[in-house]
Amino acid sequence: MIYLDNAATTQVCPEAAQAAVRAMTRDFGNPSSRYPLGKAAASAMAAARWEVAAALGCGADEVFFTSCGTEGDNWAIQGALELGRRRGRHIITTAFEHSAVLEPCKALEREGYEVTYLKPGKSGHISMADLRNALRPDTVLVSIMLVNNELGTVQDLAGAAGAIKEAGSPALLHTDAVQGFLKIPFTPKGLGADLLTVSGHKIRAPKGIGALYIRRGLRFPPLLLGGGQENGLRPGTEPTAQIAAFAAACRLGRETRDEYTPRMSALKQYALESLLSALPELRQVGVGDAPHILCLTLPGYKSEVLVRVLGDLGVCVSAGSACHRGRPSHVFAALGISKKEMDGAFRVSFSPESTREDVDGLRDALVRAREMLFTTLS
Ligand code: PLP
Repeated sequence: MIYLDNAATTQVCPEAAQAAVRAMTRDFGNPSSRYPLGKAAASAMAAARWEVAAALGCGADEVFFTSCGTEGDNWAIQGALELGRRRGRHIITTAFEHSAVLEPCKALEREGYEVTYLKPGKSGHISMADLRNALRPDTVLVSIMLVNNELGTVQDLAGAAGAIKEAGSPALLHTDAVQGFLKIPFTPKGLGADLLTVSGHKIRAPKGIGALYIRRGLRFPPLLLGGGQENGLRPGTEPTAQIAAFAAACRLGRETRDEYTPRMSALKQYALESLLSALPELRQVGVGDAPHILCLTLPGYKSEVLVRVLGDLGVCVSAGSACHRGRPSHVFAALGISKKEMDGAFRVSFSPESTREDVDGLRDALVRAREMLFTTLS
């Protein structure tokens, strides 16, 4: 099998898997318990929080563990609105956010909030002039993703923070950095973000763990009510195995990113050249600045079918976001590309482990899939 769908999820690295097994079988105490087994679990968790903070480039006290990226996004939005409830009910986001941001925004509109959805230009970027025009005195939250999950385009978060500051707006800035974490260099402070979401399963940790960065000094409301875990903001007995694994994946990612990021970029360039020369009708969608995501289209073919045939040939890629199976992608709709291009769009995404042989296998499978489908169609 050739796995080139790493923006959907990643294979857990051995370091993370071993850390999880240790936390489940040896250091299995409840971090809230006062005896040595509990204290050992609590100190392992403190060390894990430090690792995640080091990978993010923030303080350990600014990292709050969540169950996934979706939870982090929902919490950031709800919390920011609660903090700003006396100031206004206007939110600015983009038309091509992940559904973990779009769906809460749609639900808020039904409750009477106003949401402005900024549209990306043809290259897949949000214009800062559009953001400046959209800011209003009653804007309480701006939520713009760092790396788009389908196109790989990197958004100008520092520019967004500057625009908010220039306008003298008290709006909080949230970024969904799920696809950017350990793929492009950033720190929450450097981006000017007040809130920032990450997810473990995109960086070779298991599913079921993520984190929300909450800027120090922000008196953020809790997500749940219960015990005092996560400083009282996200109570519930901590998933120590997932946290340990997340920390191990963060450590590995931090230690290897300087080597792997250029390698993934080079592999992406190789893939683009090799696929374009084998299939001249293939086109890239957006400019895809991130090193691990390549969005392509084979106009005239249905990506759903293409992806299924590729799967049968042993190659895993994605027909748009994995969270939108079977439905036309709002991301491509937001880009304003033709229906034919939209129908044929698919995503190839790399991990540090991906190789040229994987790309060659994808190329051969694509050529074969196109032949098979052409024969069926004609
Ligand atoms: N945000 C982006 C940009 C994503 O790509 C994803 C997952 O695909 C999510 C949020 C949701 O993360 P999770 O699957 O951890 O809930």
